Amino acid sequence: MGAERKPSATSEGFDECEADSHVSVNAEEVHDAVLHDYVPIVSSYNSRIRPLLDAVDRLRQLQVMKEGIQLPTIVVVGDQSSGKSSVLESLAGINLPRGVGICTRVPLIMRLKHHPSLVPEIFLQYNDKTVPTDEAHIADAINLATDEIAGDGKGISKAELTLVVKKNGVPDLTLVDLPGITRVPVYGQPANIYEQIADIIMKYITPDESVILNVLSATADFSTCESIMMSQKVDKNGERTLGVVTKVDKEPEGLLEKVTRNDVNIGLGYVCVRNRVGDGSFEDARKEEAALFATHPLLSRIDKSTVGIPVLAQKLVQIQANIIAKCLPDIIRKIHEKLKASAAELNRMPKRLSSVAEAMEAFMSIIGSSKESLRKILIRGEYDEYADDKNMHCTARLVEMLDQYSTELRDGSKSGCKKNFLMDEIEVLEDTKGIELPNFLAHTAFLAILQQKVEGISKVPSGFVEKVWTYIEGVVISVLNHHSESYLQLQLSTRRAGHKLMSKMKEQSIGWVREIVQMEKETDYTCNPEYTKQWNQLMAQQHTVIDNVSKYSTSEVVIDGSTEVLAEGLWNYKHVLPQAFDLKMRVLAYWKIVLMRLVDNMALHLQHSIRNLVNKEMDKVIVNELLGTGGGGAIEKMLEEPPSVANKREKLRTSIKLLKESKEVLANIMDEIATGGY
Ligand code: GDP
Ligand code: MG
Repeated sequence: MGAERKPSATSEGFDECEADSHVSVNAEEVHDAVLHDYVPIVSSYNSRIRPLLDAVDRLRQLQVMKEGIQLPTIVVVGDQSSGKSSVLESLAGINLPRGVGICTRVPLIMRLKHHPSLVPEIFLQYNDKTVPTDEAHIADAINLATDEIAGDGKGISKAELTLVVKKNGVPDLTLVDLPGITRVPVYGQPANIYEQIADIIMKYITPDESVILNVLSATADFSTCESIMMSQKVDKNGERTLGVVTKVDKEPEGLLEKVTRNDVNIGLGYVCVRNRVGDGSFEDARKEEAALFATHPLLSRIDKSTVGIPVLAQKLVQIQANIIAKCLPDIIRKIHEKLKASAAELNRMPKRLSSVAEAMEAFMSIIGSSKESLRKILIRGEYDEYADDKNMHCTARLVEMLDQYSTELRDGSKSGCKKNFLMDEIEVLEDTKGIELPNFLAHTAFLAILQQKVEGISKVPSGFVEKVWTYIEGVVISVLNHHSESYLQLQLSTRRAGHKLMSKMKEQSIGWVREIVQMEKETDYTCNPEYTKQWNQLMAQQHTVIDNVSKYSTSEVVIDGSTEVLAEGLWNYKHVLPQAFDLKMRVLAYWKIVLMRLVDNMALHLQHSIRNLVNKEMDKVIVNELLGTGGGGAIEKMLEEPPSVANKREKLRTSIKLLKESKEVLANIMDEIATGGY
């Protein structure tokens, strides 16, 4: 007997990663055992495959399919009234709801199990409950359960119903009966009934792990059967499709030719059967079937290895053993992979915070790490955390902006004074005249010119700080976002605090800029010797330039490297020309100092403000925003996880639990096989 053979599967458990190597359920061996020992629909069913089938059934019960792991399954499909339920009845030797119209409205998982006792044990499992029943009441119990799952109309549902039949002599088989395909909705059925049913059927027959038991009525033209068209979509060559031809008593003519020709490409072959008609006993039905195939002039010509319910049972048991043996290693591998992935994902999820102290800790760590990141990118110029994001290489970006600012200042002060050399100065000198000695240069005249110039560029520094702080704001918010990623409920308030902080910094800078611009307007001072040096150099040209203007009526002069165009009536002001020239040269020399000062000061100010931001203001503003009166209990909110996160965690936990259980189920069975304990 098969039991004496050494099992080929080993098991030291199948811990992590090594799942594959530990499982080697030998398909051939299982197959052999089944072939040699199986006597159909009687009690001596070989017990070899049983633990494996039990394990698969247990996995099915655990709903491991929810994790995307497909189980080897025999799926019964067929057009409406093709005889699906009748075939299942014949296999199980029990009454199922049968009749015209749509009877099977939910996927019915039928688990047939031989057991030694002569008293059958029958129960239904659905909606997380187990409902015992008996042979006489199965049909009613199924109808009741169906009503509960799919409503008492004619609608269908995807939720499964499991029927467990433990009965002496039944083959150990698990089959899924699906609603029959119907093109035309009957009264009370939803208009899209066909799509709904097709959906369910496709879901069950698509996986490669499924064997399709295609129930065909002998009275039908196979090639036009909906169930054939469907199974051909997912199993073109019919490699995993078995045909069962019912109602052979109704139309025996041409049946032999039909199954021999195999127009519809069924790969696993046909079994022709005659089901029970009416309410006779199943034993009688088997006898009638046997007699029919033995004596009917047409039917008796069909090969005996392809007729009768017992043959069908035997074939199914073989097929089942094969697919289980084939799929199991893969299932074990997939369970390990999924388990690992889910565990890793759960690990990556933010910790659930359970106390204010824990939340505070998390919050402080967000601020701490954000500050450190900002110090690195804004102050120290270390951008390893954002290697690929140029925008976050802040020190470099800030220098670029500062250079651009300097250029803008220089460009801004050039415009508008090209074509009227000395005219502005002359006008100012005229207007600031007083009753005093003529050869003193009036200080007010100098200031008047200076103010005009400062006014001309006054928008540049404030525009620059606006731009710089907008940039820094983007950086700060992105850093805060990044570090508070794990605490979505905190991210919003942190971001709000971030914006608040930045507008405070911006405001401070703008105030400062306004002040320095105002200072430049009000006072002229520098201790920089460069000023006097420049002025002296420029003044050395005075005589030459004035001579040129007065004697040779030149139209252009070159001052400090730039060409100045003379105005027409300049000569009329010859008495003030030396003074005007002097004034212009002072302004020229001094303006360079002013521009330098505006750039230098701005650079120092920015450096100072950024340090201030990171080292002082950030703590102050954010802590105040979150914990202060305006915080709205942000820390308390941190304790409540958003439902999406909580749900995800729960889902992962459930899935891990399920996968662990599945792993255990398989480990146990492998142990059993290894020790020959069955
Ligand atoms: P389902 O809709 O595919 O589940 O089909 P059923 O099992 O409910 O069968 C539909 C009808 O065909 C019922 O009235 C059955 O009694 C009948 N039927 C099923 N198999 C046979 C068979 O082998 N011979 C005869 N004569 N009738 C059958
Ligand atoms: Mg049915």
